[in-house]
Amino acid sequence: MNAIEVVGLGKSFADQWVVRDLTLSIRRGEIFAFLGPNGSGKTTTMRMLSGLLTPDAGHGFCVGHDLVRERQALRERIGYVSQHFSLYEDLTVRENLDFVLRIHGKARRVREKSMDRFGLRLLADQLAGKLSGGWKQRLALACALVHRPDVLLLDEPTSGIDPEARRFFWRVIQEEASTGCTVMISTHYLDEVQQYCDRLAYLMHGRMLIIGTVHEVIETSGLAAVQILRAGFEVARKAEHQPGVEHVAQTTSGVLLTGPDLKSLQACAARIAPALPAEAVAPRLEEVFLHLARSDGRNAA
Ligand code: ADP
Repeated sequence: MNAIEVVGLGKSFADQWVVRDLTLSIRRGEIFAFLGPNGSGKTTTMRMLSGLLTPDAGHGFCVGHDLVRERQALRERIGYVSQHFSLYEDLTVRENLDFVLRIHGKARRVREKSMDRFGLRLLADQLAGKLSGGWKQRLALACALVHRPDVLLLDEPTSGIDPEARRFFWRVIQEEASTGCTVMISTHYLDEVQQYCDRLAYLMHGRMLIIGTVHEVIETSGLAAVQILRAGFEVARKAEHQPGVEHVAQTTSGVLLTGPDLKSLQACAARIAPALPAEAVAPRLEEVFLHLARSDGRNAA
């Protein structure tokens, strides 16, 4: 059985649908990225999946529990880290963990193991509110995992966190997934998606525009890309508004042109930077999403 299975899920606030007709299957142990611009419905979906919000349309199961009828049982099997970490700032690190353990009826000795795993022992008596962003994130993750959930929902957990804390975070996520925990994560860091996630979905105005592996999503977009090596700002400026070029980006290797037709991009590179080498490369997710957003806007108009 899939860990998450929803059909036609929807949610409206004040007569506005903010999640529409969402159909999704996520298998056990999968690391699934949930992407989209701010306001596209990611948090609302996660709140429905965790039993915190009741859907207004559709139905579904998370770890075998009905999203509407079995919300209490569902919450026992879910770990959820919200954007703001939802810690009790006036409680210490230890007290935060104890609080979560009490809610789930788990023995306190688990707390020591958790503090060791997350390197929190030396900070056990510190108030959560006094921790730095990276340590708050660690504590929030420790609290979300301390009752051994089957599904972990993470809402932009790496925003504003330094690279070392992010690496630690992803190591924990990979360990959890390897033992069968299903992870759904919303993030704006597309490099992390490419590196760590099995599949992704992209949401816009509450609708899922695409779903698949990174490779599938890039393939499906029908986009091509050409990298003009060692090219700088002047070349980038010239590339804008050239026929067939949809996006221009300055990268560490040069200038990246993206558009629907490889031959047009190659012709453009030869025209604007004849002395520089240019090579066909895979388009990046960033441009793929911009392309999808633009097509969606045109379809909606
Ligand atoms: P995301 O997580 O992708 O940024 P959200 O799910 O937070 O998107 O929000 C989707 C839309 O739903 C936004 O327009 C937001 O303002 C609206 N929304 C979310 N929660 C509520 C609420 N409790 N009441 C009214 N509108 C809400």
